Amino acid sequence: MSQDTEHVKCLIIGSGPAGYTAAIYASRADLKPVMYTGMLAGGQLTQTTEVENFPGYPNGIMGPEMMEDFRKQAERLGTDIRFGYVSAVDFSSLPHKVTVDESKTILADTVIISTGASAKWLGLESEQKYSGFGVSACAVCDGFFFKGQDVAIVGAGDTAAEEATYLAKMCNKVYMIVRRDEFRASKAMVHRVLNTPNIEVLYNTETLEIMGDGMSVNGVKVINNQTNEDTVLDVTGFFVAIGHKPNTDVFRGWINMDETGYIITRPGSTETNVEGVFCCGDAQDHIYRQAVTAAGTGCMAAIDAERYLAAKEHVVTA
Ligand code: NDP
Repeated sequence: MSQDTEHVKCLIIGSGPAGYTAAIYASRADLKPVMYTGMLAGGQLTQTTEVENFPGYPNGIMGPEMMEDFRKQAERLGTDIRFGYVSAVDFSSLPHKVTVDESKTILADTVIISTGASAKWLGLESEQKYSGFGVSACAVCDGFFFKGQDVAIVGAGDTAAEEATYLAKMCNKVYMIVRRDEFRASKAMVHRVLNTPNIEVLYNTETLEIMGDGMSVNGVKVINNQTNEDTVLDVTGFFVAIGHKPNTDVFRGWINMDETGYIITRPGSTETNVEGVFCCGDAQDHIYRQAVTAAGTGCMAAIDAERYLAAKEHVVTA
């Protein structure tokens, strides 16, 4: 085997809560896991501020610090954590072949995919400037910080509708910014939105700029794309709910996924359609998308990988 080829029992791709939890369990099961972190080591949580809803942190914790804790725990238990991204895979035969940084080849008996998903953003400069300081892509994570305040949410799909009604329970007023004259969300969700008195839907409306004092958000400038009239909404929070993109492009063609790229796992399991390849976290979950649910499926993936290897060993030696 050449220097640039290595054989491992368990390869974990991605380093968010799912990947690190898989690493912790796989290490303890003696699978000697090797993890490649991807370009954003620590995943989406490294781009957030305070996390208050992850159990075990009674006073909350900053997202980057929490991921550092995850990393240290996985490392202490023996995971070989490496910075690098997977540039190609070949799942046509066993062991699976994975190319890292376009140069190194890993032959893996089991592969755990935990590459997560990325929130889609509008692409405004001001949106980036206030990200984590009034701008958020997760109402369930950050809504609490805007209790009793006025906020805006952009999007018209099921996520936006669900998050708008979630925010309406704790915020004083929720403006929902919808770019067309209708929703994309299901009828039931739209019905819920339209029957929530403190949600005001602004149709045919687009966001021009998130305004603030440099430290926090104090308004959002929007424009009606029919009349070209612009208005400033007096809000302190701005939520973006225009969809997520699973980070699964590199697996396309090798593994079953839905039309938006979420990897399909067998219900109640992390098994994919490819033998020895498991998937956990947001790469396979477009519904819950929480750190704690990702961690839960990470645990499942390591257990599934361990049982798969044990069953194979049993067959070989029996
Ligand atoms: P969707 O892709 O369904 O909707 C995205 C929404 O964002 C659309 O209304 C779209 O507008 C809008 N949008 C996209 N880009 C922009 C932009 N640049 N500016 C303004 N608006 C924009 O994503 P979701 O996350 O809502 O849902 C993803 C999937 O998950 C769906 O299949 C959904 O049904 C499902 N889901 C199910 C839930 C449930 O069953 N409880 C809960 C949440 C999600 P436009 O309509 O004009 O294209």
